[in-house]
Amino acid sequence: MTKTAVCVCSGGIDSTVAAAIASQEGYELHFFHASYGQRAEGKEKAVVEQIAAYLGAKELKLAEIPFLKELGGSSLTDIKRAIPAGGEVDLDNPGETPSTWVPCRNLILLATASAYAEVVSADAVFVGFNAEEARSYPDNEKEFVERYNAVLEKAVASFSQPPTVKAPLVDLLKPEIIKKGVEVKAPLHLTYSCYLGDDKHCGVCESCLHRRRGFKEAGVDDPTEYIQAGEKPKS
Ligand SMILES: [Zn+2]
Repeated sequence: MTKTAVCVCSGGIDSTVAAAIASQEGYELHFFHASYGQRAEGKEKAVVEQIAAYLGAKELKLAEIPFLKELGGSSLTDIKRAIPAGGEVDLDNPGETPSTWVPCRNLILLATASAYAEVVSADAVFVGFNAEEARSYPDNEKEFVERYNAVLEKAVASFSQPPTVKAPLVDLLKPEIIKKGVEVKAPLHLTYSCYLGDDKHCGVCESCLHRRRGFKEAGVDDPTEYIQAGEKPKS
């Protein structure tokens, strides 16, 4: 019987590599992407469509969660708050919660994706949570996944088999994730990481710095087009 996976995908490297792993493991893929008012939403949605098509997904579901934008509390969703330049954040030891934290986002996204998984009787929900993100964001830790899976057993209907959330990158840092991506033939060239949402990557936000450093340390050619110094972003 075909195994089915819901792949939570932002269009970034981590969730795309996790989806490519699910594909390699023989799952039929159902992509899930959430719009919660993040600045890069237009760009993210466009690349997720390309990634889902590239990996032969059976379906792509887009979830609108406008409440997170209404709520604010994050520089990703509130345009009045500046996104910190990457140089302002210590990538290895952030020391404090970055302003890009979105309150309870991964819990909300996972709950929404789990509802989708229950409807399509998915065996698993794949996410790109990883050790590099876990330095700043506790909802990327292994413990978060384990506890969430325990809750999920009581969150689906009595006669439904709960899906298992799988985070195959949970112990990996960005360079290892990129190497893994090459190994599982993930379409890294299609991924988009920038917080700002311009057509090209800004190259200087925290997320772009993680991306740049990851490719460099992995020894993998970086396929990303970064905005050059002096070049104006389109938007
Ligand atoms: Zn950027």
